[in-house]
Amino acid sequence: MTPRFINGTPAGAAGGKAVCVGRNYLAHIHELKNAVPKEPVLFIKPATAITPLKEPIVLPQDLGACRHETELALLIGKTLTKVSPDEARAAVTGYGLALDLTLTDVQADLKKKGLPWERAKAFDGSCPLSPFLPAGEVDDPEAIRFSLTVNGERRQEGDVTQMMTGMFDLVAHISLFFTLLPGDVVLTGTPEGVESLESGDRLELELHPGSAQTHRFTTRTL
Ligand code: ZN
Repeated sequence: MTPRFINGTPAGAAGGKAVCVGRNYLAHIHELKNAVPKEPVLFIKPATAITPLKEPIVLPQDLGACRHETELALLIGKTLTKVSPDEARAAVTGYGLALDLTLTDVQADLKKKGLPWERAKAFDGSCPLSPFLPAGEVDDPEAIRFSLTVNGERRQEGDVTQMMTGMFDLVAHISLFFTLLPGDVVLTGTPEGVESLESGDRLELELHPGSAQTHRFTTRTL
């Protein structure tokens, strides 16, 4: 059966936000030599950060390196405030992929000064988002795998069982602090293999929703 994707980028279209977690895969924490957090490290990208993945990625100019972080994205279908993981699971209406684009030089400078990360992570276009596979077509979200290939080279492979905070526990935790609204998106962290993007890169993202099917999304950088 051909999957029925939820169109485009509902979050951006609806003015929704993306709530993101940093340091949610142990191997990625080690590759960046970060400390293992005691609770999820949360940050937000505004609606203006969200852009369709299929459109070419415009790399910011004169701001140093821009890193790709490939992440499973959850589309939220209900208003969620202080919910349980089971309620969170029931409220996820779609599964897709996102790139959490990060200006690494800018972020390193901000971290050194103890300043917030928004300039590095929440800039316009910093959250390319694929279409979403409806939740009803995903038998077992815990079996989702995904990958990123750049110019024919496999860079990242994600296996959601490797998350330190599982996706529905994460949504529940987020809802303690930030009410999630229909059309909002949750980014669940990146596995290892992050690298800088260069102008002219060809990106291929694959989503394996646990079945034999593979959903492939392609884009490129300008
Ligand atoms: Zn990330």
